[in-house]
Amino acid sequence: MIQKELFDLGSSPITTLLMQWYGEHKRELPWRETCDPYHIWISEVILQQTRIAQGIGYYHRFTKRFPDLQTLAAAREEEVLKVWQGLGYYSRARNLHQAAREMVTRHNGHLPETYAELLALKGVGQYTAAAVASIAFHQPYAVVDGNVYRILTRLFAIEQAIDTPAGKRMVAEIAQSLLPAGNPGEYNQAIMDFGALICTPSQPRCGDCVLRESCLAYGTGNVASFPVKERKSKIRNRYFHYFHILHGNHTYLQKRDASGIWKNLYEFPLIETGEAVDFLQLEKSDAFRQLFSALPGLHISHALTLRHQLTHQLIHTCFYRVTIPEDTLFNPPAHLLATSHEALHDYPVARLTHKYLETI
Ligand code: SF4
Repeated sequence: MIQKELFDLGSSPITTLLMQWYGEHKRELPWRETCDPYHIWISEVILQQTRIAQGIGYYHRFTKRFPDLQTLAAAREEEVLKVWQGLGYYSRARNLHQAAREMVTRHNGHLPETYAELLALKGVGQYTAAAVASIAFHQPYAVVDGNVYRILTRLFAIEQAIDTPAGKRMVAEIAQSLLPAGNPGEYNQAIMDFGALICTPSQPRCGDCVLRESCLAYGTGNVASFPVKERKSKIRNRYFHYFHILHGNHTYLQKRDASGIWKNLYEFPLIETGEAVDFLQLEKSDAFRQLFSALPGLHISHALTLRHQLTHQLIHTCFYRVTIPEDTLFNPPAHLLATSHEALHDYPVARLTHKYLETI
């Protein structure tokens, strides 16, 4: 049981120590040099599932191409996806775009200032609403993400699993109670940096930790036991076989439909199998015959094998390079789009395909 006095604060020693630590160790990041709510919102969405080192380049690229809400709202979705290309989790880009349009029509082209209005925007969850409300508008909302779960469950030795409603509620309440009234945005950034630099998922730097003396997990030698999770999420294995077709000056792409992963992004013709198969088995499949319909003179070579991890899926992928003689008539299935080799790089594609394109 956690003693309430440990975190019944505003002037908590934990908060004070954390803020002092942040004053000395905060990371220099481009979005910390601006007060512009639009830029802060973009940075928070980019960082949702992206490491900072990778996110910085995308932040510059995105805000250079779409410097304000109006420019983003006026862009075509394909342009937005193209700038996002390689970052993964493309629903973030689509939601940014839709939310920008919503703000232009419903909020006079500005980010709304209240937590509730931010939360109502497309793609904005509790974490992003709290981050933007506190950093851009100084509203007293504590962020709660994986860093915060980890730090607070260790500090207070919370045995309640964080993937249960009770565990989530407990951590959220503690996080909110630690928030200093005067500077919630600064505090939220402090705890994020602390989770990234000191109280890390594996091998936390307890020896350098200013909160060590208050940390119940450290005090009982139990750091590795927190946070507690009830369920391990199940990973679905999928087997993708992509065909990069070379037919004279043409190659072929297909557009993914609006359901499932990578909505509306482009990819090479794909055969998905229910289990791992080698090329000889693949060649005998109906899907292969439908795609290439016994074309003469076909030359197929294996180009690249990649394993691509998504949140709940592991995609085992083989890329094949298929050369069709220029004088052979190829009638591709109707869903394939012919394009030139040069234009291939103009289409928005998922990170997996992007990795392959970097090799050719
Ligand atoms: S002592 Fe270790 S586990 Fe506890 S807060 Fe500090 S870094 Fe995290």
